[in-house]
Amino acid sequence: MPSHDILIIGGGPSGLSTALHLAKFAPHLIPRILILEKEQYPRLKLCAGGLVIDAERILESLGLDVREVPHTDSREVRFDFAGKGLSVRVPRRHAIRVIRRDEFDHWLAKKAKIQGLEIREGVSVKTVTPDESGVTVETDQGNFRASIVVGADGSNGITRRSIFPNDPVYTARVLEVLTPALPQKYLAKTEEAERRQVAFFDFFPVPDNIAGYVWDFPTQVKGTPMRCWGVYDTNLLADQKRPALRQPLADEMERHGFDLNDYEIKGHPIRWYSPWNKMSMPRVLLVGDAVGADAIFGEGISMALGYGVIAAQEIAESFQRGEFSFNGYRRRVARSGLGQTLFVRWLITQVIYSLKWRWFQILLWRLLKPIVLLVAWIFVLNWSQRIPLGK
Ligand SMILES: Cc1cc2nc3c(=O)[nH]c(=O)nc-3n(C[C@H](O)[C@H](O)[C@H](O)COP(=O)(O)OP(=O)(O)OC[C@H]3O[C@@H](n4cnc5c(N)ncnc54)[C@H](O)[C@@H]3O)c2cc1C
Repeated sequence: MPSHDILIIGGGPSGLSTALHLAKFAPHLIPRILILEKEQYPRLKLCAGGLVIDAERILESLGLDVREVPHTDSREVRFDFAGKGLSVRVPRRHAIRVIRRDEFDHWLAKKAKIQGLEIREGVSVKTVTPDESGVTVETDQGNFRASIVVGADGSNGITRRSIFPNDPVYTARVLEVLTPALPQKYLAKTEEAERRQVAFFDFFPVPDNIAGYVWDFPTQVKGTPMRCWGVYDTNLLADQKRPALRQPLADEMERHGFDLNDYEIKGHPIRWYSPWNKMSMPRVLLVGDAVGADAIFGEGISMALGYGVIAAQEIAESFQRGEFSFNGYRRRVARSGLGQTLFVRWLITQVIYSLKWRWFQILLWRLLKPIVLLVAWIFVLNWSQRIPLGK
């Protein structure tokens, strides 16, 4: 049975970030790491691809320039209720950068390979079984044995399901659609043309028991300007009567001249962070969506990169000590900017989606602008300044 010290299951942003940060903090471990990815790059991943400043900061600290990946920059992000609300701009830079995940993840995987990290593509993990002396990982290409395993296999990942089969799961339901940038009939309308550079979040479905929002981002596919639309529902109001998720998305698209029926709609759950989500057991730790993404928006790329930083530190120190209980991992995450923002976002989620009345949503997004912006600036963004990125 092939044996490795560190097996990382999943080659998305959390797994690759863990590997890249291990290469940075403990380069002697590089030959002892193996990443198992069930797909072949470039592989599809349903995701709107919105990168916030924290994602870029973590990549920069690895010496990586995400501008090498095809992208679309939004100079403004709007948080609206029924078409009106607050606007966020970041001085002298874009407010959000939108990439396509097939391209971004492929790029990151190539960077990992350049560092000497081994990725085995097309290997699907079936079970993960830890014991006192190591971990057995059963795959469709035979069994592997490892000293430790990192579960970076996403919201539906087998690692978490293998080690915590009875753990409660908090997942959001999400639908996504890609369309051309503008419908032909609106090309001449300036206000519609202006939308091309703005990313929108609109919380109008909340009073209808959809605890989330409809989004509309500019993006590109192979250089052609497109828009990515979607709807996100934390499921927090799930035990109340709620309309189908499709309807608010169809309504918003129709307002801008698109018929949802003309496009392919895809869905995928996002597991979101709650303080009760388990993160590790002896010899196995989880990163990225396997632990949980941000609950307010389902934002998870920057988080995935951030989990990689903290996990790499925990692993590097565990190898120094020769002790793999990972007892300190939860505390390490909780004390970091990542853990703080995940916790505060979880708290905010409980408030803003539970107070689902129309008047409250109008108050929040249209009238309390300075307070919302201040809370966002302190607690939601810039958390990567409070994680140990190293030199
Ligand atoms: C519709 C949608 C829109 C989103 N939009 C945004 C956005 O705009 N911005 C943002 O920040 N976040 C967004 N997210 C969330 C974001 O996609 C995730 O948080 C992020 O991908 C988490 O990264 P990860 O590495 O933990 O998991 P993933 O990206 O899911 O990577 C997991 C990897 O593990 C592999 N894998 C899975 N199972 C196995 C197995 N058994 N064996 C081997 N390999 C396996 C998968 O192939 C995959 O490569 C969105 C999510 C959805 C569903």
